[in-house]
Amino acid sequence: MRNQRSKERLADDTLRTSLKTRELRAGPTELQRTKVKKKLAIKNVTAAKDKPTSRERSTRRSRAAATKEQRSAIMRAVTSENTTPEVTVRKLLHSLGYRYRLHVRGLPGTPDIVFAPRRKAVFINGCFWHGHDCARGARVPKSNADYWIAKIARNRARDGKTRQRLKSAGWAVLVVWECELRDKTRLTKRLSRFLSGSQSQS
Ligand SMILES: [Zn+2]
Repeated sequence: MRNQRSKERLADDTLRTSLKTRELRAGPTELQRTKVKKKLAIKNVTAAKDKPTSRERSTRRSRAAATKEQRSAIMRAVTSENTTPEVTVRKLLHSLGYRYRLHVRGLPGTPDIVFAPRRKAVFINGCFWHGHDCARGARVPKSNADYWIAKIARNRARDGKTRQRLKSAGWAVLVVWECELRDKTRLTKRLSRFLSGSQSQS
């Protein structure tokens, strides 16, 4: 009797885990169990009928191919949703006591942060969009790879021209890459060196 009951309990547990319905967790009635069995049967039929499309298969493959580093990059992106790189840099500069203007349209490339009296401009670039020489920048989407490669090459060329135009007009330019935000101490040093120094750098 005791044995029989624990067997039943085991069977219930399996049902609960596989279906995760609230009612079942509270303890299934006979009727509910029958319903569940029917549902399971339907589910199995649909699963067999719906073969994955080639797109789904490739998604699965690329998901499997994602490296540990890529996955953690995705997770970082998810958790830092509300702290855009630009806001982070602005907060840093503010804490250093600098005053600045944002998105100055009168200057080539509309720099993100401008220190007009110092004639210094900062761009905060996403590693992917601006083709940074880092792991994130090297990643090309699997679909439309040619399109992305060409687009990012155009962005890089435009960035280069913008920096050149600013420099010829006597501006010093600093590019802060998204990936640099991971090391705040280092970034702070880089920013203060740029802002206190008289030499331009990129
Ligand atoms: Zn980068």
